[in-house]
Amino acid sequence: MHDLLPEDEALWRFVRDTCERVAGLFDYRMISTPMVEDASVFLRTVGDESDIVSKEMYVFEDRGKERLALRPEGTAGVCRAYIEHGMGSWPQPVRLYYFGPMFRYDRPQAGRYRQLTQFGVECIGDASAAADVEVIELQRTVYEELGLNDITLRINSIGTAATRRRYLDALTEHLLPHVPTLSHDSQRRFETNVLRVLDSKEDAGHPAVQGAPSILDFLDEGDATHFAEVRGLLDRLGVAYEVDPRIVRGLDYYARTVWEFEPADGGGQSTVGAGGRYDGLIELLGGPHTPGVGFATGIERIVLNLREQSAPTAAASPDLFIAPLGEAGPAAAMRLAREVRSGGLAVRLGMPGRGLRAQFRSAETAGARFIAIVGDTEAERGTAQVKALGLDGAEQQEVVMQDVALVVMPR
Ligand code: ATP
Ligand code: MG
Repeated sequence: MHDLLPEDEALWRFVRDTCERVAGLFDYRMISTPMVEDASVFLRTVGDESDIVSKEMYVFEDRGKERLALRPEGTAGVCRAYIEHGMGSWPQPVRLYYFGPMFRYDRPQAGRYRQLTQFGVECIGDASAAADVEVIELQRTVYEELGLNDITLRINSIGTAATRRRYLDALTEHLLPHVPTLSHDSQRRFETNVLRVLDSKEDAGHPAVQGAPSILDFLDEGDATHFAEVRGLLDRLGVAYEVDPRIVRGLDYYARTVWEFEPADGGGQSTVGAGGRYDGLIELLGGPHTPGVGFATGIERIVLNLREQSAPTAAASPDLFIAPLGEAGPAAAMRLAREVRSGGLAVRLGMPGRGLRAQFRSAETAGARFIAIVGDTEAERGTAQVKALGLDGAEQQEVVMQDVALVVMPR
């Protein structure tokens, strides 16, 4: 878990603003659910054999002996809220987005943390391929607006539960002779949830995994039609993608369309965001059968990619530095600061008791555009000596306090 420092602010704010602005352009509204939920919300939905539940979830008992979890992901909590607030009776689909911290006991490394931040959207109540494509298009637009270059979209369909049962038989039969050569983790997955062998990072290049039968050959007619519609809409929208039958996603609640966005330079922590359809999830949580589709994207990974791509953005600096001098200076400086701030300008107050030269140095270090000097004389006259900084030979002028904001205001 890590700290965000003031130097990170500009980039983080840009990323968050962009995510929320694009969500707004698609008419998605914000939802914010608690960071702590009853552990069963995740245990019942995400899947026992998912990385999240089997080894990454922070679970604890509270003083009332309730079993709680720090949320490892956003979708299950949003769906819990959909049921709890009767959103099934709102006009469908319900379009929601969230932005906030998630917690996973992952192995920390660059781009992989135990507290991570996700932006995600959920489109609940629409089973059509058009909803899948709307969500993919929203995610693509976010990356485009952020200026993230060279991102590849890979999509797949994992069908419905019946498809997966038929596919699992074939996959088990195919992998059986190769089990002794698979990684320890995959051997365990082979026993508990064989589909997830395909999701193994360690065995991604193993010939048995590479040569595994494709789930796309097992789709029933409904699943196949849905997937063809998704691809057709993406084609007509001009969205580039690759079909990758090995994408199965880590979570059990997915059905039909699943996808990942990956930057060009590969690597273990490379997926910036992923999504899929989860038509059975709301039922698993005790609600009525309701289709849904969504994605989540990791903000830390977006920030990492943006930093690799471009020079750091300049830190914010104040418009005005006010230097208080003498006895009456500090109080008058605070009154002036209030006046200028109410005009929407950022003001940094200098420390009282310092000399004029030291005040100038502080103003320059702060990157202020103007300095206003308020000493005893100015306090008495209700004025300040204002000077533009960084411009050689800029004149100092005495300005009545009410007009300082006008002088400082960027033209
Ligand atoms: P990975 O395969 O990299 O472990 P995941 O399949 O666990 O990812 P999801 O649950 O789909 O990831 O989460 C969506 C996004 O959240 C990921 O694409 C990634 O950008 C981000 N993410 C997931 N885990 C972490 C983490 N531990 N630290 C930072 N970001 C993360
Ligand atoms: Mg993971």
